[in-house]
Amino acid sequence: MPEGPEIRRAADRIERAVGGRVATKIGFLFPHLKRFEACLQGQVVTAIQTRGKAILVQFAGGLSVYTHSQLYGRWYVVSKGKLPRTNRSLRFEIHNDQKSALLYSASDIEVLTPGEVERHRFLSKLGPDVLSKDVHENAILERITDRRFARRQLHALLLDQGFVAGLGNYLRSEILFLARLHPSRRAGELSANEASALAHCILSVSKQAYRTGGITNDLDRAKAAKADGMRRAQYRHHVFSRGGRRCWSCDVEIHREVLGGRNIFYCPSCQPGPEHPTTSKGAKRRL
Ligand SMILES: [Zn+2]
Repeated sequence: MPEGPEIRRAADRIERAVGGRVATKIGFLFPHLKRFEACLQGQVVTAIQTRGKAILVQFAGGLSVYTHSQLYGRWYVVSKGKLPRTNRSLRFEIHNDQKSALLYSASDIEVLTPGEVERHRFLSKLGPDVLSKDVHENAILERITDRRFARRQLHALLLDQGFVAGLGNYLRSEILFLARLHPSRRAGELSANEASALAHCILSVSKQAYRTGGITNDLDRAKAAKADGMRRAQYRHHVFSRGGRRCWSCDVEIHREVLGGRNIFYCPSCQPGPEHPTTSKGAKRRL
């Protein structure tokens, strides 16, 4: 599933194609949304917002089209009159006199008033968005130290869109590696320094992934690896998808575990758990 950075990059492409322009044609596949086509046609698309993994297409008249791509949804941007080569099913289309933005296969599509956006069952429960310009480290730190999350293990907490919005599977492994925290640690047992490091990494890793198209590794290292002929998949991450390979930092073998049905990767030396006690200052390693 695409994570916040991939969703925001898709939103940027949609924004460049249809943002600030009159939508000359709007189409919905679902019969219950067809009544909105005539109403939205002729309106300017004012913004493409992302909230975690959801995209909101806002129209000048006040309505927004809410979309959540889940596993299969995919946006394409094409020149007017063209269609992408795909066997997917076209669910929502926005056209202007030059470009088209087309959403395929997504099942979560709704047309909402501003009040309905505020009260929306999914949007209203989201935590602060990791890619929002208005969200700073302090806001993330407040979430980490909030008592309601204290008992949660970090591997589960980071996937909870109600904690912070926009993180997914590769980001959680990379964030925990860079914050040097074992996935089994609980939010409530972090030292002040550890909580600050986690808050910092939640934002910095997500923002780097957004800027680079998903590279979370050290950028100088990634550049050198690329120059050496290494494939992108090999140098893209610190630990994610690198089970059994050597940690770039310490040369110890990276572990893969399945937690909550999803793969998580970590370095047992850089992120020691209870079975690998550390002498580093202030670190408590308990499950
Ligand atoms: Zn390591």
